[in-house]
Amino acid sequence: MRSDMDRRTFVGVAGGAIASAFLAGCAGQEGAPAADQASAGIDYMALVNKQHQLPDGWEDAVEIVHLVNSEEWDVDVEAKAYEAYLALKEELEGDGVFVDLDSAYRSVAAQQEIVEDFTEKYGEEYVKLYVAVPGYSEHHTGLALDLFLIIDGKGVYYNEDMVKYPEIWEKIHARLADHGFILRYLPGKKIETGYSYEPWHIRYIDDVEAARKIMSEGITFERYLGELDPSIADCKVDYGTSGLYAEADMDSALDAILREFGTWTGCAMKRLAFAGDEACDADELAYVNELREAKMPDVDAFDQAIVFECTFHTPSAAEAEGTAWEPDADYDGWTWHLGRTGADGAWQLMTWGY
Ligand SMILES: [Zn+2]
Repeated sequence: MRSDMDRRTFVGVAGGAIASAFLAGCAGQEGAPAADQASAGIDYMALVNKQHQLPDGWEDAVEIVHLVNSEEWDVDVEAKAYEAYLALKEELEGDGVFVDLDSAYRSVAAQQEIVEDFTEKYGEEYVKLYVAVPGYSEHHTGLALDLFLIIDGKGVYYNEDMVKYPEIWEKIHARLADHGFILRYLPGKKIETGYSYEPWHIRYIDDVEAARKIMSEGITFERYLGELDPSIADCKVDYGTSGLYAEADMDSALDAILREFGTWTGCAMKRLAFAGDEACDADELAYVNELREAKMPDVDAFDQAIVFECTFHTPSAAEAEGTAWEPDADYDGWTWHLGRTGADGAWQLMTWGY
């Protein structure tokens, strides 16, 4: 919930959906859970992402506490994660850093309502790009916490404002592991986590040693658990430097590339690199628009183009049989060409190859 629009929608739908969970927890921030309160029968190390669904029975087993934050928003969070959060928050105050909880637990039903509401308001394309599929959001676990900052006594909770304080986030991230939390969506790791950098989204894993390892090595939870898809597990992403595109713009282009690449059975991406601003010039834009006219004449003319280069490895001889691939080889210097209409539009993959 990092925009007013999101928050209103959420509070609106959450009221009824989570009412029963309120009864199980405490009312108000003073009513902190008892020290030994935890959710029996949930796996605190469970992986929930765009490929891994919330485990069966989770919502029945998870112990949720309810609180009202400093902005008077309702927040629900798993009991043990909340206890750990309170200790983290207190320690941070010693560093002169003040945080609060924006949102944590979100039921599958509440997410379904968000999808329906946003589809009606902003259309299917927007929802596909920006809203988690019900059942596949880490917030369903109650263990994912979105923080916001309190600076000079004032809440700072919009994404675009929060990212202006990297030195404060650094202090926060440095304290996470000691309390069993990890930073979940690392910069430059969208191809592993499915999300661009979110300094505010932390995840409780209830294992200080594991958290220390993950945080000190700077690895994703997916990599730590060995759950990365082999087609991208060894891929290095090079965002280069760009005056045209931010990392999040490139991430959404990488999404489109990897959606296609994911269908190339047995191939493994080794390197994906932004081809540079000069490769995304007027000639390139004219090129992708020419392809768009041929492939998708109903789509509005692109006003932005982006190009990536890559190296990938082809499947073994047995796996490559019947394909055009030279088996077990590195294909270097392939390029991917995409265009989009407006900075909020979805990148469309127009062509790829040598
Ligand atoms: Zn989050």
